[in-house]
Amino acid sequence: MSSFTTEQELKLYLLAHGIRIEAEAEEEWMKRFGGPMSLSEYASTSGICLFTTSGIYINAPFIEAFTKTTEARFVFDGEFAIVRRDTRIPVSVIPVPAYHHIMYRDGGKEFPYTKIGVTHTDRCRISPIEGCAWVCTFCDLPYEKRYGKNPKHELLRAIELAKSDSLSPARHVLISGGTPRPEDEPWIDDIYAFIAQNSPIPVDVMMPARHEMDYPAWLRSVGVNMLSINIEIWDPDRAQRITPNKARQLGREHYLNYIEEAVKAFGIGFVQSLMVFGEAIEPIESTLDGVRALVERGCIPVLSPFRPDFTTPMSKKQPATIGEMQKVYFETVRICNKSGTGLKPGPRCMPCHHNTVVFPDKSGFYVPLGGDLTNRSWNNK
Ligand code: SF4
Repeated sequence: MSSFTTEQELKLYLLAHGIRIEAEAEEEWMKRFGGPMSLSEYASTSGICLFTTSGIYINAPFIEAFTKTTEARFVFDGEFAIVRRDTRIPVSVIPVPAYHHIMYRDGGKEFPYTKIGVTHTDRCRISPIEGCAWVCTFCDLPYEKRYGKNPKHELLRAIELAKSDSLSPARHVLISGGTPRPEDEPWIDDIYAFIAQNSPIPVDVMMPARHEMDYPAWLRSVGVNMLSINIEIWDPDRAQRITPNKARQLGREHYLNYIEEAVKAFGIGFVQSLMVFGEAIEPIESTLDGVRALVERGCIPVLSPFRPDFTTPMSKKQPATIGEMQKVYFETVRICNKSGTGLKPGPRCMPCHHNTVVFPDKSGFYVPLGGDLTNRSWNNK
């Protein structure tokens, strides 16, 4: 592929500039699903979730300051559509799930389930740790939430509610959330094992590297399906400034060796790593060096365009541009093709494409809605 389709171009435009919501579209959404239209939590998941007829999933931001200049409108004229200049593309929408309104009790107080579980498209993300022991300057978690541990059985209950949700049923789980303090690592190990063994839907884990190189093999042994170990920033100086705890604790070489061990344990196609990109993060060539290092190790690169969050020290920085997205995507596809591994930009789950720069194809690498997320023989097709 050397050029983008109209739908693909529109996705990049929306990721960079956001969308304006017309009153009729909001009214129709509220009539069908109630509100809110988005949970506006992490910067990268703060938009409305849409998908086109060709299976392109889009998270379109609509509240950030930079959407003030957008040309794109979300309309309802008998069906939902995105209109930009003379282009009109019909879209389906994915509402915020109904279980987000349900409450649970902990320590004599009531909390909404969104405190521990949130579904975007078809994936429920649960957060054992609220807040974070680390402070990265692009992430709102440490600035918005106090550090705490969420109750184990409510984490499982959130998954059960997410799976049977009437508006947006989840079909897989990501255990993510904040990084635990060192003394809470045994606690979260127990959570990983408990959730992987009791969840009614496949479980993925996103976490920083540990010291122990055999940790990925242990995660696999307890039933975790896929693993995300995010490099995020390749340049060591930029990493020191933006993700200081991570950069200080275990260096880049450790991360790469750890990712290699993870690929041995989970297999190619079941380990991924996010690269956050845009000039505010690091030069694009540096991001691409990171992509090369990941692909060489059999790890799926996931291209996450930087989107500033207004609660963080990077709130005034520019989001990734369309030009940067195009360059990073085409170069990453080229690097993947050259590797001969069958890898492509991730994630593999198509509904999870919504906030990353990636597009479906017919290779069998991407798993469509309803496909088997646990199929470990994708590369033999
Ligand atoms: S480690 Fe993750 S959750 Fe914690 S501050 Fe950094 S990006 Fe946010």
